[in-house]
Amino acid sequence: MPAALITIAQARELVLAATQRLEHESVPIAEARDRVLGVDIRAAADVPPFPCSAMDGYAVNPGPADRALAIVAESRAGLPASHTLADGEAIRISTGGAIPAGAAAVIPQENVQAADGSIVTRIPVRPGDHVRDRGEDMRAGDTVLRAGTVLGAPELGAAVAAGAAELTVARRPRVQVLSTGDELKAPGEPLGPGEIHNSNGPMLVALAEHQGATCAPPGRLPDDRAATEAGLAHAIENSDVVIVSGGVSVGPHDHVKPALANLGVEEIFWRVALQPGKPTWFGRRGATLVFGLPGNPVSAAVTFSLFVRPALAALQGRGDERALYGEAVLATAVARNPDRMQALRVRLERDNGRLRAIPNGPQGSHIVTSLLGADALALIPPGQGELEAGATVTLEPLPR
Ligand code: AMP
Ligand code: MG
Repeated sequence: MPAALITIAQARELVLAATQRLEHESVPIAEARDRVLGVDIRAAADVPPFPCSAMDGYAVNPGPADRALAIVAESRAGLPASHTLADGEAIRISTGGAIPAGAAAVIPQENVQAADGSIVTRIPVRPGDHVRDRGEDMRAGDTVLRAGTVLGAPELGAAVAAGAAELTVARRPRVQVLSTGDELKAPGEPLGPGEIHNSNGPMLVALAEHQGATCAPPGRLPDDRAATEAGLAHAIENSDVVIVSGGVSVGPHDHVKPALANLGVEEIFWRVALQPGKPTWFGRRGATLVFGLPGNPVSAAVTFSLFVRPALAALQGRGDERALYGEAVLATAVARNPDRMQALRVRLERDNGRLRAIPNGPQGSHIVTSLLGADALALIPPGQGELEAGATVTLEPLPR
């Protein structure tokens, strides 16, 4: 009796249990986009650092409409006035200009009548009108960004406002993608009999880089035991994660498993109750993780999404984005697999506040076009017959 296949959830737990956080490094803000923050960032000082004007106008004291005030100075952004405001006076002020000493409000320029050297206020002014208080955005010492946050544009803006110039981020995982198969030709190369183009190489590199990895140029391994072992040996020595596609099934020309065993890579699992993706292999040597993904391009993309993506996130200390994916209602009936969970490529549509999952064309593991325009994976539990339209299914990310 062959042992029962492990579930997607069990496989993912084993992957995460084998994954150790990478060390941190410091990078200038200009190089920090898409990196994962390693430590919390606190505001170095109050932001804004001083009370300032929200409008172009005049710094004045509160009071009724129809006051005549003499313009005695100017406070521009970056160039505060040194004059202290007294009764009967106004100080010209720009947006972002510091509120001068003695002033308690700003009247916008469209609410005054300006003549040579003086203004008449057209509206009453209350204390604090159009004044941005010191520390309204951040207080000194506030935690502005948490470790584990992915640094996008807003996070970079907030980090700079908080006073940061260099950011402590997780080192990028070094990834080597290898494609096995005598049938594989480089992109654009003419095909001889029985040959196909290596879609997996560039696709897996793109997927890994999108998760923050830095990838060595993808390699190709022939279906030959010695060459497979040599290629894997080099990859394992120089990578945090090796992703090898194809050659992990049980055919006479599948050399990846014996080669990895010979290289001292500990097998953690082989085969998952999953369609597509059953032959998925995972192991490690030291801190280096090795994923053997099935060769069919859809299987490779699906198993990358389910197993490699969470590992790359965990290496960088990033939370799993699965939490953002909830459930959806299946739009059409789907034939179940009796023993394995199916990961269906679906498009998502909103329908009366519910999310509908629409199978994205033919689902064969060789149909690479079924990935085009797919928004997510929908998990179809194993069973007999069909899962009916309207059933609730769990969604998983399908990164691009
Ligand atoms: P394998 O897992 O090596 O048995 O391969 C399963 C199927 O995927 C076969 O039809 C292979 O030709 C195909 N295949 C394997 N590697 C690739 C690749 N890098 N790009 C496209 N198809 C592949
Ligand atoms: Mg093969």
